[in-house]
Amino acid sequence: MAKYVVALDQGTTSTRCMIFNRGGETVANHQLEHEQICPRAGWVEHDAMEVWKRTKDVIHAATEKAGLIARDIAAIGITNQRETTVVWDKKTGQPYCNAIVWQDTRTDKICNQLSENGGQDRFRPKTGLPLATYFSGPKIKWMLDNVPGLREAAERGDALFGNMDTWVIWKLTGGPGPEAAHVTDVTNASRTLLMNLETLDWDDEILAELGIPRSMLPQIRPSSDPEFYGLTRSGGPFGGEIPVCGDLGDQQAATVGQTCFEVGEAKNTYGTGCFLLLNTGNEIVHSKHGLVTTVCYQLGKEKPVYALEGSIAIAGALVQWLRDRMRLINTSADVENLAKMVEDNGGIYFVPAFSGLFAPYWRSEARGLIIGMTRFITRGHIARATLESTAFQTREVVDAMQADSGVTLSTLKVDGGMTANELLMQIQADILGVPVIRPKVSESTALGAAYAAGLAVGYWKNIDDLKKNWAVDKTWQPSEDDTLRTKNYHMWKKAVSRTFDWLE
Ligand code: ADP
Repeated sequence: MAKYVVALDQGTTSTRCMIFNRGGETVANHQLEHEQICPRAGWVEHDAMEVWKRTKDVIHAATEKAGLIARDIAAIGITNQRETTVVWDKKTGQPYCNAIVWQDTRTDKICNQLSENGGQDRFRPKTGLPLATYFSGPKIKWMLDNVPGLREAAERGDALFGNMDTWVIWKLTGGPGPEAAHVTDVTNASRTLLMNLETLDWDDEILAELGIPRSMLPQIRPSSDPEFYGLTRSGGPFGGEIPVCGDLGDQQAATVGQTCFEVGEAKNTYGTGCFLLLNTGNEIVHSKHGLVTTVCYQLGKEKPVYALEGSIAIAGALVQWLRDRMRLINTSADVENLAKMVEDNGGIYFVPAFSGLFAPYWRSEARGLIIGMTRFITRGHIARATLESTAFQTREVVDAMQADSGVTLSTLKVDGGMTANELLMQIQADILGVPVIRPKVSESTALGAAYAAGLAVGYWKNIDDLKKNWAVDKTWQPSEDDTLRTKNYHMWKKAVSRTFDWLE
C-alpha cells in the first residue's frame, strides 16, 4: 500500500496541495494564490483556467518537496470553495466566462424575482437553503441569461456546470477527453439550491423554475467513494494513475478533519468567511433561526449525515481588506499587534456587510458600516473592531444554532487561517463564554479531504482510526469580565440593524 494521501484544497484565495501520512501529519505542502477579479461593486470572479494552472503548479511543487512519484500516493481527495460556479465547453475545456464566486451578489435581482412567487424560503423544504445570491443555482441562471450563445450550447449538451471540485476532478481525470469524470459529491451539490436533501438528486421542479438543463449538471456521488470518481492521467500533473475518490465542500471537509462524527459535535472555521457546522446525524433539521441545512458527508454507501450551518461571508476577508485596500497593515498577521495597541474597541463597531449579510439575516441589500466614530479612534481600534466583528458574527450564529437544535455548546473546536490570531481566539472565548479549542493540525479542511479519499481505498480503516489522530494544541478560556459578552454584544446587534436600510 502506498504511503501517503494527497489533498487538493481549492480555496477562495488560494489553492493548496497537502500530503498526509497515516498519522494525519503534513509531510509536504505548497500553496499559491490566484487573482480576485472585482470588475464591479458586488461582483467577484475567478479565472478557472488560472485556478487549474495553480492546481498543477502546487501538485508539482508539493510532490517534488516530498520526493514522491505517483505510486507513493494511495488516493487523492478534493476540497473546494463551495458554490463558486464554472461553466465550460466539454469539447474544448474552455470556460464560457469567469467563474462567479460565492461572495458575488449580481444575482440579487434573480433571487428577488424568484422570491416573489412563494417567498425567500420557497425552496427551503427541499434544499435546506434560502433563496440567496450565495448559492450556485441563480449564478448558473445568470450565465445562461447573459453569456451570448450559452443557453443554446447548454441545450445542445455542450456546456458543463461545476463547482471548483467538479472542474478540478474533470481536469485531473483527463478533460477534455473520453475518460473525464463529470461528478460532484453530495455536500457540494447541497449548496447549489438544485439538490433535494432527501433524494440526493437534482430536483426537476427547481431546475424547470430556474431554466437549467439537467444535462449540464454533474453526477452526484458519495463524499468518500470506493468506486472512485476516476483516475488521474499519466500525462497529467501527477504523472501516473491515482484514484480520485474523496470530495467535500471545504466546510464539510473541515468538519470531517476535526472528526466531528457524533451528533451534537461542531466546529468553526475562520478563513475568508467563517462557517460553523453542527452535526445533526441522519436527521434533516430545518432551521427556524436563519441557519441553513446541508449535507455534512456521505461515506460510501452509508446513509448521509446532515448538518446545520451558520455561514458568515466576511471574516478573514476583512483583514485582507485592511491590508490590500486600506493599506493599514502589511500582512494579515500584523492585525494582531495593531489591535493589541489598544485596550478595547474605543466604542466602534465594524459590520462587514460587503456581500450583504448571510446567517442569520440573509439580507443581500445590507451594506457595511463602521459606527461610533470619534476623534479618539486610531488604527488600533479599527484593527480591534475588525477582529471583534468575526467573533460577534460567530456569537450570532451560535445563538441561532442553540435555538434551532436545543443543544448548548460547551466548547468550540476551531480551525482555519485566522486561528493563528491568538487575540482573536481570546476575544472569541470571551464573547461566547465557552472555551475555544484549536487542534494540532489546524489544516482541518485539507485533512478532511484526505480522510475521505483514504477511507475509500482502505488507507484508514474506519472513523475510529481518524479520531485517534485528533489532538488539542491550545485552549482559550473565557475571562470573568462579561462586558464583551453582554453590553458590547448588544451594541453590535444595534450596529447590525443599521446596515439594513442603507440602500432604501
Ligand atoms: P481560505 O481557505 O478561505 O482561503 P484560510 O483558512 O487560508 O482561508 O485563511 C486565510 C484568511 O485568514 C485570510 O482572509 C487572511 O486575511 C486571514 N488571516 C490569516 N492569518 C491571519 C492572522 N494572523 N490574523 C487575522 N487574520 C488572518
